Amino acid sequence: MRIVRTVADVRAAVADARSRGEIVGLVPTMGAFHEGHLSLIRQARAESGLVVVSLFVNPTQFGANEDLSAYPRDEERDAALARDAGVDILFAPAVGEVYPDGFATTIHISGITEVLCGAVRGPHHFDGVATVVAKLFAIVAPDAAYFGQKDAQQIVVVRRLVRDLDIPVRIVACPIVREADGLAMSSRNVYLDAEARAQATALNRALSAAEAAVAAGRTDAASVLAAAHAELAASGIVPEYLELRSPDDLRPVDVVARPALLAVAARVGRARLIDNRILEA
Ligand code: AMP
Repeated sequence: MRIVRTVADVRAAVADARSRGEIVGLVPTMGAFHEGHLSLIRQARAESGLVVVSLFVNPTQFGANEDLSAYPRDEERDAALARDAGVDILFAPAVGEVYPDGFATTIHISGITEVLCGAVRGPHHFDGVATVVAKLFAIVAPDAAYFGQKDAQQIVVVRRLVRDLDIPVRIVACPIVREADGLAMSSRNVYLDAEARAQATALNRALSAAEAAVAAGRTDAASVLAAAHAELAASGIVPEYLELRSPDDLRPVDVVARPALLAVAARVGRARLIDNRILEA
């Protein structure tokens, strides 16, 4: 595995692999690797000749009062895990390499970025995500890019980005990886103390309660959401949002008649956590 810092060096490595006829897979990350990241990397490894993992804590997707400076960073550990997982290129640029002096472009995707996390974190969040992902696609030009279903809205945004801008990349959504007690793995779980860590398991239980409601025939949004809210309330959690939306375009869903995205965000202890489940009709 090579650790690469510059756009030029990534391009050279990708061109070299392409000249050998290899398929290129990209896994964008902000580091602090856990099994969720590694599952994406393994899938990319299984489907690609060259696996590029980007490690970049993207400042433009953080708000002024968010955790940019506190975000967990440990490049040495990440590099060791990436090497063990068979990554070929770890692209870990400095902020100035991605956003050089005079950088002035923002990609804004309207209609799907104002809701859910966009409503809570503000419009800059998905502008930052779309802009950095577009740059990574332009830098690496991968055949496929791997994202976690954990960030369900991010996948909707990235799919719209590549569709609207005709970017020739296959977007692969990978399943949510969870701890043994159901908590979705997240780099931000390190912010949880013992009490908050126990409380956080209510998110997955709430999603399961909603799933059970649908399985029992209570498919209207009010019943589904009530089942989930009850589970959160039992653990003292008031969510930032708990909503049922279309997994394709995030339009509100009134009745689970086809697969529907149940998405939740909540502050638990010092962490802001998100989770979701696709509810099957
Ligand atoms: P991050 O470093 O948090 O930006 O995440 C990088 C990628 O890993 C994103 O595509 C996430 O959706 C994905 N990811 C994060 N946590 C998980 C998880 N628990 N299961 C699956 N994918 C995940």
